[in-house]
Amino acid sequence: MAKHLFLAVTCRTLGCTTGCMVKYVGPYSGESKFQHLAPEWFMSFCGECKQTHRYKREEIYPVLRDEAPPVGFESAF
Ligand SMILES: [Zn+2]
Repeated sequence: MAKHLFLAVTCRTLGCTTGCMVKYVGPYSGESKFQHLAPEWFMSFCGECKQTHRYKREEIYPVLRDEAPPVGFESAF
């Protein structure tokens, strides 16, 4: 089964360490460079604490999941 590559950031809210999925890149095919896919700054909403924060490109990390994004998944950029 192919893995799915997402980009995530860790929520900035104090006490909330939720990893927020900010973008679905697609089926994973071994790419190791992904930061160029993000703008320098972007806003992301945390579904856990309901706060929106500003993040920078360097804060992004890759996440591999078995499932494709759910219906209604919204990219932050
Ligand atoms: Zn949060």
